[in-house]
Amino acid sequence: MAEPSLLMVLVYALRHDDVAPGRTPFLWEVARGGSRGATQEIFAGQLRPAFFAGLYPNESGVGHLFCYDPASSPFRLARLAPSWVDRSARLSFWARRAIEASARRVEARRGHRGSASACTLAEIPTTRLPSFAFSERHLPWEDRASPRPGLLSILSALRLPWLHLGYPVIDQRTSFLTEAALSRMRASHRFVFLHYAQLDWAGHTHGPHGPEASAALEAIDRSLEAIWRHAQALWAEPRLLVFGDHGMVPVRAHVNVEQALDELPLRVGKDYVVFLDSTVARFWFHAERARALIVDRLEGLPHGHWLTASDLEALHLDGGKRENGEAFWLLDEGVVIMPSYFQRKVPPLGMHGYHPSVEANWGGLVTNDPYGPSGPIPLTDVFRLAFRLLGLESARVFP
Ligand SMILES: [Zn+2]
Repeated sequence: MAEPSLLMVLVYALRHDDVAPGRTPFLWEVARGGSRGATQEIFAGQLRPAFFAGLYPNESGVGHLFCYDPASSPFRLARLAPSWVDRSARLSFWARRAIEASARRVEARRGHRGSASACTLAEIPTTRLPSFAFSERHLPWEDRASPRPGLLSILSALRLPWLHLGYPVIDQRTSFLTEAALSRMRASHRFVFLHYAQLDWAGHTHGPHGPEASAALEAIDRSLEAIWRHAQALWAEPRLLVFGDHGMVPVRAHVNVEQALDELPLRVGKDYVVFLDSTVARFWFHAERARALIVDRLEGLPHGHWLTASDLEALHLDGGKRENGEAFWLLDEGVVIMPSYFQRKVPPLGMHGYHPSVEANWGGLVTNDPYGPSGPIPLTDVFRLAFRLLGLESARVFP
């Protein structure tokens, strides 16, 4: 029998219930002959170490997009900005352009091609930028990307040709990806990875149940059908694995953590540092007094809770890098922090990054293999599933 070739497709924010006859006729058809399950997002904004290498954040060291790392922040130029810089829209605009350009140069010099390839300042207040750096420094196929080899490194070691079309090195719009996949896939490829992002963008801006998300999903389903037909023509033993890294939860409420913190008699940067992600506030404390005041203040806020020691263990955050957070205040399903360091003014209508038990946060998973998962699996299991579909379970390099 011919060796299997795998088309592995990440559809950013594909919800587990998006795979339905009316919404994704192609994926539904594949699932009928194969299997349909779900993925549970792990507690890290950056998920490539999970599905490419089977690693949790306390193993990979990669957490959310930004980590606390003043010593090697690529945004040091921001130290020169006056404290009032963000009160002037024009000054802020030009200062941030200069900071971004400088960060790109700094990261290029250091050989950091991970998140720095798509270098963004998000909406982090300018004067707070010098506290932070990118947590994912390397590309998934670079040996130094993870403490043990990931899928792409293993394929390279086995001299099996692969193609990667995804973040952060390529445009993730559907029309571009269709074109790129159809023109670049070869009969010799044993593995092709595609990464569609437009469903995620539509879900954040318009919510997961609006016409915009449906249209984005429909276009992805059509694109996938064309690429799969192409793969079937190219490969003797084609396998398909399509998955969402997480779902998309409709946003129902906001919490203003920034204001609650500003009311405390503490100085941010001196007494503590905070990063306001959309669904979690991450803290680093420089004084016990700051910890006590902040813990107490946030306990009084609605819609969220502090992660306990047993939560940290269950989420594979225990023993992880301090840079990714010392304490975490996580929001309930459908609630976002506003303003956050990703949205200062316009609240999103859809969000992910909730506790893995939140069902609307589960990603979809479809494979043409009838023995694929039929229920939820942790995102880290996608790595092993890909190996099995490639027929490489017995490869000696398997960790
Ligand atoms: Zn997203």
